[in-house]
Amino acid sequence: MDCIFCAIIEGRAPAEVVFEDEETLAFMDINPANPGHTLVIPKRHVRNIYDLDEQTAAAVMRATVRVAQAIKRALQPAGMNLVQSNERAGGQEIFHIHIHIIPRWYGDGLRLARPPEVRRTMPIKEAAAGIRREVARK
Ligand code: AMP
Ligand code: ZN
Repeated sequence: MDCIFCAIIEGRAPAEVVFEDEETLAFMDINPANPGHTLVIPKRHVRNIYDLDEQTAAAVMRATVRVAQAIKRALQPAGMNLVQSNERAGGQEIFHIHIHIIPRWYGDGLRLARPPEVRRTMPIKEAAAGIRREVARK
């Protein structure tokens, strides 16, 4: 399978790595939204959140917290966003799960996409009932 992030893990493609442990790798995004924009990935190839097992999820989040705190100390941003996209409709371009750590500064002009008007085609209570039913099945 042709996966650029697996190539980075295996050393077949270059990356500016900032953290690595047994299960995860963190490296600079090649096209940063802001200075310090970093990606955290599991070494195991997982397509996205739908395929993520609990141990890998825990390892990725542990690494994300560690790197986020390091970015805060190193670059002193005013704020920070975590972004994680799933499937094309969600904006996913690389199909090896990754968490974006995006440092934020006042006036940086970045916006998380939101439609101008809140769209409520499905009532909140109805959406919550469906989610509650499914979450109980796990
Ligand atoms: P997403 O839209 O969440 O799938 O984001 C993919 C991200 O990976 C984008 O922000 C890209 O800039 C970044 N990216 C793609 N190729 C590379 C690479 N070789 N090294 C570092 N970052 C990359
Ligand atoms: Zn991969």
